[in-house]
Amino acid sequence: RRVGGRAEARRTAAELLERVDLTPAEDYLDKYPHQMSGGQRQRVAVARALAMNPEVVIADESTSMLDVSIRVSMLNTLGRLRDELGVGFLFITHDLAVAKYFAWEGEIAVMYLGRVVEHGPTPRVVGEPSHPYTRALISAVCEPDPDLVHGKERFRLRSADVPDLTDLPPGCDFHPRCPLHEAGGCDTLRPSLVRHQDRLLSCHVVTRG
Ligand code: SF4
Repeated sequence: RRVGGRAEARRTAAELLERVDLTPAEDYLDKYPHQMSGGQRQRVAVARALAMNPEVVIADESTSMLDVSIRVSMLNTLGRLRDELGVGFLFITHDLAVAKYFAWEGEIAVMYLGRVVEHGPTPRVVGEPSHPYTRALISAVCEPDPDLVHGKERFRLRSADVPDLTDLPPGCDFHPRCPLHEAGGCDTLRPSLVRHQDRLLSCHVVTRG
């Protein structure tokens, strides 16, 4: 956006601050970063991204440093901006609960060692994970209800060791840890990401079924 002078720049900055729920904006316009909390600084970072009138915002672990109580309010702000402004969000996180909360009406792509192994509508992937790595991730999420724990799938890995990124195993990257691996196939040929039913999957065994 083209800004005319100092007064217009302040007006634009104030609008952006209010958009990310830093209100009243006058309280924040002249503050230095060390005068703000971590959550407030994250909101300023989002306001700076919005100043470019983007079509897409890439938010890389944007809530991981925040206290859990602030995290939800930040996610709600981002969700509101996504819906109100029509901005697309590529949200990168290690926290499955955050991904689920933020992208429930969108899509989720699960990555292992830098490659997408499963990609599809969030409720489908989270509700019925297909790739062995996604199944292991979902089964590792703590369940507070003891009754639900009994019916929950326990998906045990063959190994807890994550391969070195500079020395990847042959074949499927996940095969040294995968409980479904098949010798002679999984350890020689890397599976491609292919469409399988309602999602994209990278697994020789699951996509065969
Ligand atoms: S290709 Fe084989 S090793 Fe890789 S995820 Fe599928 S079953 Fe497991």
